Amino acid sequence: MKNFYDLTFKDLKGYLKGQGYKPFAATQIFEWVYKKDTLDFNKMTNIAKPLRAELGNTFAFPSLKESSRQVASDGTKKYLFELHDGQLVESVLMEHEYGLSLCVTSQVGCNMGCTFCASGLKKKTRDLTAGEMVQQILEVQNKEDVRISHVVVMGTGEPFDNYENTMNFVNIINHPKALEIGARHITISTSGIVPMIEKFADEQLQVNLAISLHAADDKTRSSLMPINRKYPIKDLMRSAEYYVKKTNRRITFEYLLLGGVNDTLEHADKLSDLLRGMNAYVNLIPYNPVSEFDYNSSNNRQQNLFYDRLKKRGIQVTLRREKGGDIDAACGQLRSQTMKKRDES
Ligand code: SAH
Ligand code: SF4
Repeated sequence: MKNFYDLTFKDLKGYLKGQGYKPFAATQIFEWVYKKDTLDFNKMTNIAKPLRAELGNTFAFPSLKESSRQVASDGTKKYLFELHDGQLVESVLMEHEYGLSLCVTSQVGCNMGCTFCASGLKKKTRDLTAGEMVQQILEVQNKEDVRISHVVVMGTGEPFDNYENTMNFVNIINHPKALEIGARHITISTSGIVPMIEKFADEQLQVNLAISLHAADDKTRSSLMPINRKYPIKDLMRSAEYYVKKTNRRITFEYLLLGGVNDTLEHADKLSDLLRGMNAYVNLIPYNPVSEFDYNSSNNRQQNLFYDRLKKRGIQVTLRREKGGDIDAACGQLRSQTMKKRDES
């Protein structure tokens, strides 16, 4: 059986055509599934009976098994889900003034090996399919009886190392006949895979792009993110400029504040020099400590100094108040804790 949630609208139309049916039934089928929550083809009364039978023999609507859940004092909820093959993925639900956002996982593990990240502790086992990413949203919506308004692909994994599935996922959740989450409400975060940033720019979507920069000089960045040796800052910035030019959209740079590593005023000056004149925005993120690593977050005073310096030098910047700080909320942390326990038992 195939996972129905893997299908884009176009895929479904193609399938119907291939089976000799009118492709417009795709509209009705998507509406049953995504608007009316009807997960039984037999109940899709405006679909021809033979087609219902055929769909029922071909596609299933799998669900994710909840393995554990943590709730932080600020309301942030972190789910650990088990996929059909026993692999674990996590999704984090956050409440904001503007709505509810879900942080979605794109791969089981990650091959990028960033030296501060719990997700990189385990190499990638496999990519998630588009449907498995869609399921994370559906599962949380069902459990909480809410509608998720914003999606960030910032859970475990490098989405641009799983490009096609990530794009299909975006297409499905954005589609007017499916979840209809606005492109401007979707953000993809990448560690900086240059050719894929260019490819993404060429798609000219209204989806937000965030690049995990974390340092404005190659030496520091390479020590944090091995990907920088392959695609150093100069190339990365060129692809970022290309994205801005192609899409006319502002780009976000994420910058983790690691005490004594990348958080001095000198670092802030380097960063502002790098971004000067660019349609860019910096998101400063306090580091969520991971027990396996020696890094610490910058202290509050240093965070504020860094922020003020960027502001003074004309850079658009926010200091993200870390959500769910008391529940292993940084990406990959809950999963890695659970895997450790699994390994020990
Ligand atoms: N692989 C992509 C998306 C997933 S990581 C990327 O690297 O951009 C999402 C964000 O969380 C990245 O900016 C990453 O650097 C950051 N991150 C990783 N570990 C963290 C930690 N312990 N505390 C805070 N942020 C962390
Ligand atoms: Fe992978 Fe992103 Fe973690 Fe780096 S920060 S190891 S790219 S998930």
